Amino acid sequence: MPAAYLEAHRSGRLAESVRKSLEWMRSCTLCPRLCGVNRLVGETGYCRTGSQAVVASYGPHFGEEQPLVGRRGSGTIFFSHCNLFCLFCQNHDISHGGEGQPVSPETLAEVMVLLQEQGCHNINFVTPSHVIAPILQALPLAIEKGLTVPLVYNTGAYDRTSALRLLDGIFDIYMPDFKFWDPEASKRLADAPDYPERARQALKEMHRQVGDLVTDAGGLARRGLLVRHLVMPQGLAGTSSVMHFLATEISRDTYINVMSQYHPCGGAVGQPDLGRRITSREFEEALEMAHREGLHRLDERHRHWITLEL
Ligand code: SF4
Repeated sequence: MPAAYLEAHRSGRLAESVRKSLEWMRSCTLCPRLCGVNRLVGETGYCRTGSQAVVASYGPHFGEEQPLVGRRGSGTIFFSHCNLFCLFCQNHDISHGGEGQPVSPETLAEVMVLLQEQGCHNINFVTPSHVIAPILQALPLAIEKGLTVPLVYNTGAYDRTSALRLLDGIFDIYMPDFKFWDPEASKRLADAPDYPERARQALKEMHRQVGDLVTDAGGLARRGLLVRHLVMPQGLAGTSSVMHFLATEISRDTYINVMSQYHPCGGAVGQPDLGRRITSREFEEALEMAHREGLHRLDERHRHWITLEL
């Protein structure tokens, strides 16, 4: 199964998405923040990113879900800044401190090809929502240099459906979080009360584009949707409602990573409800919620080494 963007490049659809995404940056509405700043002349909005993407790090990564990692790793490119402001973010220096280097489209294309040459099975763009345009700009250059592996859109899911449509037929794999169900929790924990609605719309659009996860004979992801859900203390993530939504409005065949590794960071430290890891019982209950909804494609990889509070 060839990567979707190869056909989009041949047909001119990719060039059209590049053009539109750059136009959107002129009065930026690429994500739900709708800042309206002209990023093409260096103005910045909530994400504090101008016309160029800022890259914090890149390299083969072996900590992702098994269908992405295979034997030679997922080629991750970590972008600096973010359009969410999660109180408990584990990468605060990158997502809010802005550590990293601005890169031209030419350099970003070279990084993509380098990761492929290192044997990575895919190019995994981490926190891409605010840098859709620079990614799309770099892609034709990478294709001309020989890029062929699938692209992964690894997002917090605070995305506009209209922006995701720019990626239709270009990205093969979407890996969104579904972080919170409750708008009050989203407001407090991520500065985004509309997050749950945006995430629901985004996941529907992603699934419409690529469907359920499809793997090849070696178990590697070729196309489709993988969803991540971080279980939080005191039920703050709304796990039961998230699982019900996935089962009834996306698909019971959705591939899901129910994650147990929450630990208090940043502003979460010392808070009565957020200042602890989850318990084994909370995690087991989250798994039961998924099973009860008939969700059966649960990532097994991280289950056995995460230390939980008892
Ligand atoms: S991508 Fe950045 S500048 Fe554009 S709307 Fe979102 S937060 Fe604002």
